[in-house]
Amino acid sequence: MSNSSASAPGGAKVSDLQEEGVVATLGDSDTSMHAGSRSARHSDPHSERHPIVQLRDVVKIYGEGSTRVVALDKINLDIYKGQFTSIMGPSGSGKSTLLHALAGLDAVTEGQINVAGKMITGLKDKALTHFRRDNIGFVFQSFNLVPTLDAKANIELPSRLAGHKVDPHWMNQVVRALQLDNRLTHKPHELSGGQQQRVAVARALVTLPAVLVADEPTGNLDSASSEEVLSLLRQAVDNLGQTVIMVTHDSDAAAIADRTLIVKDGSIVADLANPTVESIMEVTR
Ligand code: ADP
Repeated sequence: MSNSSASAPGGAKVSDLQEEGVVATLGDSDTSMHAGSRSARHSDPHSERHPIVQLRDVVKIYGEGSTRVVALDKINLDIYKGQFTSIMGPSGSGKSTLLHALAGLDAVTEGQINVAGKMITGLKDKALTHFRRDNIGFVFQSFNLVPTLDAKANIELPSRLAGHKVDPHWMNQVVRALQLDNRLTHKPHELSGGQQQRVAVARALVTLPAVLVADEPTGNLDSASSEEVLSLLRQAVDNLGQTVIMVTHDSDAAAIADRTLIVKDGSIVADLANPTVESIMEVTR
């Protein structure tokens, strides 16, 4: 997926993206994604109708007998290409289980999950690892950078592990856009939390994943860094056609998405188009 002829998430080729300078636009992020500017970019979340993730009757049960927990209770869900979807809900409602299931990190008990045209339920471990490597970009709360590697090596690591060459031009574009140019030789401990998370976002974006999943990506960040990281994810959707799915417990963060799913007791209890903090609060209170 990471060579220069690969399709970007929005269907464009890397070379097209480079010509259009779309990644460079990402660099404007830190000023442009504040709450007041959100309404302009909201769209009908189902307008394009290209589901890139489909869940059918998905059930996930942990444990048995007295420890049995139904973490996902017959979930049916389509997530559309080129959209930013946020997932909210109380602690223990099943958000992470849902995200991990659709990213191929955890097997489910029943049902089918199709991602980027591939049925991932039923895949064996090795096939699932390949699927994740080639299709999913991950951003976690805990950054998960390798402490002994500098920022550049961290960004390139997943591609190298997959045996793909990182397109240097694309790498430069992403690095510039995320304003990491002067940080590439720094090890994680020499970077702030916000910078480390930007490295993690760059690491996810350089592989041109079909879907970028983010699990509480701002959970360890101060509010300024949170806003910056959210704005980068937002612009990856707007400018690159990236599909982003983010779990968060923060309604401000959730409202940056095109669509917010509210999960409770393993079910999706609300599905909000063009969410606002107010509309989210209304259904979660
Ligand atoms: P959330 O992300 O919304 O906090 P989770 O998806 O982590 O919720 O968990 C959903 C439910 O599944 C909870 O009741 C949780 O205790 C349970 N659960 C999650 N992971 C495991 C596990 N590995 N073993 C047993 N139960 C689990």
